[in-house]
Amino acid sequence: MQRLVINAAIAAGLDVIGDRWSLLILRDVFLGRRTFNTLQQHTGAGRATLTRRLNQLIANDVLYRRAYSTNRFEYQFTNKGLALFDTSLLAWQWETEWAKDAAEPTLPPALQHTPCAKPLNPVAICRHCLAAIRHTDITWRHATSALDAQFTAIKSANRQRRIKVNKLAGRDSALAHIADLIGDRWTLLILIASLFGIRQHDDYVRQLGIATNILAERLKMLTENNVLVKQPYQSHPLRYLYQLTDKGLSLLPFLMAVRQWAADWSAPGSASELTHTPCGHQLVVDVVCSGCRQKPRQANIRFG
Ligand SMILES: [Zn+2]
Ligand SMILES: [Zn+2]
Repeated sequence: MQRLVINAAIAAGLDVIGDRWSLLILRDVFLGRRTFNTLQQHTGAGRATLTRRLNQLIANDVLYRRAYSTNRFEYQFTNKGLALFDTSLLAWQWETEWAKDAAEPTLPPALQHTPCAKPLNPVAICRHCLAAIRHTDITWRHATSALDAQFTAIKSANRQRRIKVNKLAGRDSALAHIADLIGDRWTLLILIASLFGIRQHDDYVRQLGIATNILAERLKMLTENNVLVKQPYQSHPLRYLYQLTDKGLSLLPFLMAVRQWAADWSAPGSASELTHTPCGHQLVVDVVCSGCRQKPRQANIRFG
């Protein structure tokens, strides 16, 4: 069996926004919190962390710093940053639905789409046939040697960036933030492999080249957080099948939106290997309001 290829654009996009602080900063800037002090107050990040993350977002051309009076600065989105609004909406939607108790008290409880006067329910659709994206409708090609090199790069980047999984294990299952699940590369790779049909321990090992102790730790965390559910399929020796729950499956629109953003803005050519099976076109993802099928824009959203 060939190894599963993890789309390089997902990895590129998550390099920029795939950690908790960056997602919180994006949310707050979209909510109009634009100065360092306001951002610090609302994200709860320490000065050093906030400075580092803001600098990374500036280096990646997501934000820029604007002087609004002498020695007073605010952070504004570039066009590339504004294009993350869709993705942010999907992240908020996921947290509102699945991490209710973890939602920040400052997160708006409901978003209204003013053009249709309905609560905003963002959906990820195929640009060609307009159907909502489902994991069973996406075809992933298998590895070529060139893509294997990208896969190796993703794995080595993971050594520098990982969350403390122990901190998550055993925690209340409502408390896993979206960034906890996607900010750790191994967890992300397991989720993507699961979305594309991997169910068994030995297949994760084979497909991802993951060490069994790391795999065991991540599978435990994902089952404790109700992202995966495990069922025995064999008793001698005892073996389990791992299936995504509805909570796990509902991460797909967000991941596909991250991939599309990176493909559009950062990593041209890295996103060509997915096909939307029902219409046969190369997958291009748009995010629209479920009520009126228009693309949500920041100016057309009312909070609360
Ligand atoms: Zn389609
Ligand atoms: Zn609408």
